[in-house]
Amino acid sequence: MSKKKISTSLVQSGLGKDRAYSAVVPPLYTSSTFAMAELDEDMEYSYSRSANPTRDLLAKALADIEGGVDCAVTASGMAALAICLQLLGKDDLILAPFDCYGRSYRTLVTLAEKGHFKLEFVDQYNNQSLEKAFEANPKMVLVETPSNPVMRIADIQKISGMARVCGALVVCDNTFLSPVFQRPLELGADISYCSTTKFVNGHSDVVGGAVVAKDQKIADDLHFWNNSLGTIGSPFDAYQTLRGLRTLDVRMQRAQDNAIKIMAFLDAHSAVSKVYYPGLSSHEGYEIAEKQQDGPGAILSFEIDRDVSAFLAGLQIFRLAQSLGGTESLINNPASMTHVSMGAEARAQAGVTDGLMRLSIGIEHCDDLIADLEQALKKA
Ligand code: PLP
Repeated sequence: MSKKKISTSLVQSGLGKDRAYSAVVPPLYTSSTFAMAELDEDMEYSYSRSANPTRDLLAKALADIEGGVDCAVTASGMAALAICLQLLGKDDLILAPFDCYGRSYRTLVTLAEKGHFKLEFVDQYNNQSLEKAFEANPKMVLVETPSNPVMRIADIQKISGMARVCGALVVCDNTFLSPVFQRPLELGADISYCSTTKFVNGHSDVVGGAVVAKDQKIADDLHFWNNSLGTIGSPFDAYQTLRGLRTLDVRMQRAQDNAIKIMAFLDAHSAVSKVYYPGLSSHEGYEIAEKQQDGPGAILSFEIDRDVSAFLAGLQIFRLAQSLGGTESLINNPASMTHVSMGAEARAQAGVTDGLMRLSIGIEHCDDLIADLEQALKKA
């Protein structure tokens, strides 16, 4: 049979694996430990920090969908980044995007200051900056595309080609698009990780992460660190995430359809000075997004030149919250919420203004979402 389409693989995630009763949906194994039949028994599962059957089903499903050999399931997206950073030694240089997720930025700076590795923030959207940065022979390049929150698009294929020349590992944060709309390993990256808290679980009821590797040696190292640091995801979270994964494609497609209509509404609105969305033909990086993404996704940011507090207070459906990627629509003011830990200078450089709003578009009816934004903008 030919390779299954991603929507089929997603729905089938973990199904039909129950050895005890042939249950269609796999059971949840919460046990921390597994009994040995005899002293020398070579067990597949012995202790749930090292390996757990429920977590392994999620790992296998994510590895298949991302096109990798193996996956380490972690307790959060930050834990996923943390185990990737363990692959660096103190003299190794990591190139990171100057506008990466605020907590990633802070973590990188703090660990570099403690001497865990060398760090350089780079404008990855600029050829000259990239070429200059690669002259320093990095060991790892962190890519986050589309970037949070202004949706800059980094060219994964180009960066992976440059990294290959100096033997650097390319690690891509795929949180915003999920494997439905972007598969970094197919574009040359070595590692694709995401915060499964977001679209992959998709119901705003789990904090989790996952790291998929293209190569078994890298995967083994990631498993070693996940087990050693104890950054593993819990079996219950894995069970929930596997359940969410089965609807990932339909959720992403519906949310994206909504996002495209909301983009058109906001782009034409007099109170909106700028819209950041890879599906907008005037968006910087639109051509790269067209080439490397299977869709523009369901995150959209925009700037208003009205009273931010009045606008936010006027919303009735969009909820003001930190996260993104759930079935419900959320709004965020990055300068005062997700990106506050970056500091004002880095925020200004990354284009995170006080009037910038980030929307995580859900799967409600689009007419209601647009009506909500329209009436709140009138009150601002
Ligand atoms: N990467 C991106 C792009 C994010 O937006 C986030 C969280 O918002 C993370 C990583 C961290 O994920 P988590 O909150 O699951 O630790």
